Amino acid sequence: MKVKVAADILSTNDAIASENRKLFRENGVFVINLMSSPGAGKTTLLEKTIALLKDNMKIAVIEGDVATTADALRIEKTGVPAVQINTGNLCHLDGSMVRSALSEFDLKSLDLLIVENVGNLVCPAEFNVGEDCKVMLLSTAEGDDKPLKYPLMFHESSALVINKTDLIPYTNFSLEKARRDALSINPKLAVFPLSCRTGEGFEEWCGWLRGRIETR
Ligand code: MG
Ligand code: ZN
Repeated sequence: MKVKVAADILSTNDAIASENRKLFRENGVFVINLMSSPGAGKTTLLEKTIALLKDNMKIAVIEGDVATTADALRIEKTGVPAVQINTGNLCHLDGSMVRSALSEFDLKSLDLLIVENVGNLVCPAEFNVGEDCKVMLLSTAEGDDKPLKYPLMFHESSALVINKTDLIPYTNFSLEKARRDALSINPKLAVFPLSCRTGEGFEEWCGWLRGRIETR
């Protein structure tokens, strides 16, 4: 019975997510669902990415956090609109939460909408929000065992960003192992090692993103 309830929740969510997707398509907005554990650097990645892309496209962000408006305030400082969703005790964003934030934006004018999910390596990957693609962010400080331990996140994502490459000398993180294990779960994954601190690797990551948005 418990399993049936979970399946019902997921199918109801999928129906709402497809309505969102239809709305995004009609308005020509490319949507990313960005997932990672807490502290991997999602908001910092967005700050840097927005700074590099915002002169050539219209961007907006939905921030998902259990509590606080800290991250939406950080994004607003980059000059793009942001809406904060506080989930209370919920550990992921779902289709209806994202839906509820959409009236805050002029969707027609947007090229890119980024949904920063709640920091969590488990259920964000199970709940579609209507995105064109999921992007997984892993930081070197978390360890290179994460792809095999949390395979669904890596399986569902189109791109894997590996942040904090500048910390590799201080950890036992193996970029080669992380990449190999992630690709064994999802051979189509585009992998981008980078450092939000030094800026290394941003050209490749932003190039991929631009390409996806242009062909939307
Ligand atoms: Mg954040
Ligand atoms: Zn959850």
